[in-house]
Amino acid sequence: MTNELVVEGLCAGYNDLRVLQDVSFAVPVGAVVAIVGANGAGKTTLLSTIAGLLRPSAGAIRFRDRDISRARADDLPGLGLALVPEGGRLFPFMSVEDNLQLGAYAPGARAGMAARIQEVTAAFPVLAERRDQLAGKLSGGERQMCAIARALMCRPRLLLLDEPSVGLSPLMAERVLEIVAGLARDEGLTVVIVEQRVTEVLEIADEAHILDRGRIVRSGPARQLQADKSIQETYMGL
Ligand code: ATP
Repeated sequence: MTNELVVEGLCAGYNDLRVLQDVSFAVPVGAVVAIVGANGAGKTTLLSTIAGLLRPSAGAIRFRDRDISRARADDLPGLGLALVPEGGRLFPFMSVEDNLQLGAYAPGARAGMAARIQEVTAAFPVLAERRDQLAGKLSGGERQMCAIARALMCRPRLLLLDEPSVGLSPLMAERVLEIVAGLARDEGLTVVIVEQRVTEVLEIADEAHILDRGRIVRSGPARQLQADKSIQETYMGL
């Protein structure tokens, strides 16, 4: 298996609104793959469809050589695929630790819960310090880290990240993206990351795809897209 995820001819949307049009791409094992594009291009729709929250109207999604096109969203973490939704969606009136425990609801993940909390908070020392604090009292960056840590509780192979830097200061955004890159580099995690901060995400990604009105219009190694004049002008404000 060289690809962790393969998306083929994917079409999806909402009732009569067709958003994704024949989207195909592959995500190599251990790679960080960025999906970038303007507001409304369909990035969240793509992640939601892969994560089983939306049913594709056509096409196929294969995760670790298994067809998950019709899988239920709540079965996917148990198979090793975890989504960090935009904004993190933590439970603000629960502690950091209780939020992390909720990430381990998949069968098999509950065993060794305490040890797993130690492991994931080791990657985010600030969370270890704030274990007993209410999640709603975390800063934006800490909240995002907590949401990523919660997704890691089920020991995923593939992490889907929806705009992890939204609302963060440039410095905090860079830190969060660095942590994501470190998870791929040091833990062998495969990552699909949707981002509006195109310049920053291309720094940490191996490959990138540009989504425009529901279609992939450009694909390539992140370095190559980073150096492309038309992409710099259209998406990077350079
Ligand atoms: P952004 O960067 O603003 O988050 P995006 O690239 O993630 O944008 P999507 O959120 O996937 O884009 O939206 C794609 C299209 O689908 C838009 O036209 C949007 O209005 C529409 N859409 C999104 N969610 C829904 C929904 N729940 N019901 C109906 N239409 C929706």
